Amino acid sequence: MGRAVFRGGVHPPEHKDATAGLPVEWAPLPERLVVPLSQHLGAPCKATVAAGDRVERGQVVGDIEAMVSSPVHSPVSGTVAEIGTTLTAAGSVVGCVVIDRDEEQDLDSYVAVPDGDDRRARVRAAGIVGMGGATFPSVVKLTPPKGMEITTVILNGCECEPFLTCDHRLMLEQPERVVAGAGYIRDMVGAKRVVIAVESNKPDAAAALKAVATEGIEVTVLPTRYPQGAEKQLIYALVKKEVPHGKLPAAVGVIVHNVATAAAIADALELGKPLTERVVTVTGSVARPGNYRVLLGTLVSELIEAAGGLTGDVERVISGGPMTGMALGSLDVPVTKGMSGIVALPKGMAAAAVSDDQPCMRCGRCPESCPMGLEPYAIANYAHRAMWDAAAKRDALDCIECGICSYVCPTNRPLAQLIKVAKAAAMAKGVKA
Ligand code: SF4
Ligand code: SF4
Repeated sequence: MGRAVFRGGVHPPEHKDATAGLPVEWAPLPERLVVPLSQHLGAPCKATVAAGDRVERGQVVGDIEAMVSSPVHSPVSGTVAEIGTTLTAAGSVVGCVVIDRDEEQDLDSYVAVPDGDDRRARVRAAGIVGMGGATFPSVVKLTPPKGMEITTVILNGCECEPFLTCDHRLMLEQPERVVAGAGYIRDMVGAKRVVIAVESNKPDAAAALKAVATEGIEVTVLPTRYPQGAEKQLIYALVKKEVPHGKLPAAVGVIVHNVATAAAIADALELGKPLTERVVTVTGSVARPGNYRVLLGTLVSELIEAAGGLTGDVERVISGGPMTGMALGSLDVPVTKGMSGIVALPKGMAAAAVSDDQPCMRCGRCPESCPMGLEPYAIANYAHRAMWDAAAKRDALDCIECGICSYVCPTNRPLAQLIKVAKAAAMAKGVKA
C-alpha cells in the first residue's frame, strides 16, 4: 500500500463501526412494493403489465427499446395493484408498478433471464446497472465503442464514503461472487488486467478476496482517503492515466464497475438471476443500524422501521453517503438499484442548505482539498450570481460532486450544491467541458 495517490482529498471521520461488523440480514418483506420504472440513467421503462395482472418474482414488469435503458422486474410473486407514479430519492416523480405480494414467498425461486450465448444480452435482460450509485446500465459499459480497446477492468471496492459498509460486507461475505463477476467482465471486454481495489480500512475484505482470487485477478489495497473511490481518482491511482476532460474511462482503456455490480453480473450469468434486491446500509441515528438485504421497491420508511426507527434529534435523512448523497424530502420513497445507504444524520452533522450560504473568509481550504484542482469558492460565487458561462470557464463541469469543498469550509458554505447547480445550468445551455 502506498501513500495518497491523488491530489487533495480528506479523511473525514469514518462512522463505519456501527455496521461494519454486522452480517447482512434480510429486511422484513413489505406487503406492498412500489417498483419505479426508472431506476437507471437513460430512457425510463414502460410498464409491461397492467393492474390486476399476476406477476412472479423475477418477471419483467417494465422495459423499453432504447440503447441506454434497463428493464425492471418484480421482486415478489403477487398481483399488480396499480400502474402509477412515485416520488424518488432524487426528488423526481417517475412511473411505477405497485405490487401486492402473495403472503407466501419463496425467495430462492424466480423467473430466470433467458439462457443463451450472448452474455451481454443476459446482463441487460437481468436489469443490471451500476449499483455504486451511478445506475448506468452495465451492458453499455460492457460494449465499448468500436476502435476502443479496454486493457484494464477496475472493480471499485473502495467504499470511501463515511457510514457506508454494504460493499464491505458483500466483499467479506461473498468474495467468490465478486471475483466471478470480475472474470466475466474481463472476458466480455477482452481486457488483460483486472484489479479489485479496496481501501486499507477493510483489510478483512481484501484478505477474503485474495483468498478466492483466480489467476490474473489482482486485489490492491489503496490508502483510506476520500474520494479514493471516485472513478477518475481510482483510475489515476491504479493505471496512472488521467481521463481527458469530457471523456469516459474507456478513452484511456479502462472500465470501472462497482463490486456489487460485478456480483450481480455473476448472479445473472451463472444463475439467470435478475436484479430484484440489494444490500443497503441503514445507519446513523436509528435504533438498530445494520446492513439489510432489501427488495427493490421497499419504502425507505419501512426500511427505517426494520432498523428500529429513528432515534434522537435527526436533522436529515440521506440516501447514499453524507458526502455525495441526497437529503430525502420524504421517507415514502422506494429503495432502488443504486441506493447503497440510508443515513440518519443528527443535528450538527448535516451539510448547510443553499439558502444558508455565508460569506467566504478566503481561508484557502476548498482549493487545497479539491481533488480536481478547482477553485470551488470562485465557481460558487459565479453560481450565486447565475453567471453560468463564467462558472464553466472556471471548469465547473470538471467537478465530480465529491462534496469535499462543502465539508472543509469553515463558514459552512454549501459550495458543492452551488457548483452542482452551475454544472446543470451550464450543461442545459449547451456549454461544453
Ligand atoms: S465537489 Fe467539486 S468543486 Fe467541490 S471539492 Fe469536489 S470536485 Fe472540487
Ligand atoms: S473553504 Fe469556504 S471560506 Fe475557505 S476559501 Fe473556500 S469558500 Fe472561502
